[in-house]
Amino acid sequence: MKPEPQKRICGECIHEYACSAWNRGNMHNTDARNCANYETVKTSNAYYIGVQDGMKIAKAETATDDNELKSCPYCGGKVEIFENYLKQFGVHCTVCGMITFFGNDSQNKQKVTCRWNERAGT
Ligand SMILES: [Zn+2]
Repeated sequence: MKPEPQKRICGECIHEYACSAWNRGNMHNTDARNCANYETVKTSNAYYIGVQDGMKIAKAETATDDNELKSCPYCGGKVEIFENYLKQFGVHCTVCGMITFFGNDSQNKQKVTCRWNERAGT
């Protein structure tokens, strides 16, 4: 038997705890179809904000991808970030072989990406 799509019970609602306190009883299996306050975790603002944050974090992580780097200022070639044996990140041009490090910022891949993109021309 398929569950009715319209079926709502208080047990699925994020306000179950508060309502139980108001009603002084367990209302886990109470029919919530006519409840104006019915809100599941997935429809709540808190969940929505959580999703938004997740998307921002995912975006920030992909921003360190090599294809986000500006091209080589000497030859216009594609550059990539590499890590050397000292665990320093540098920028390397795949066309002319140019290599650049950014001092203390070389420890941090994200900083190297930022420094490179603000340093190089277009
Ligand atoms: Zn180059």
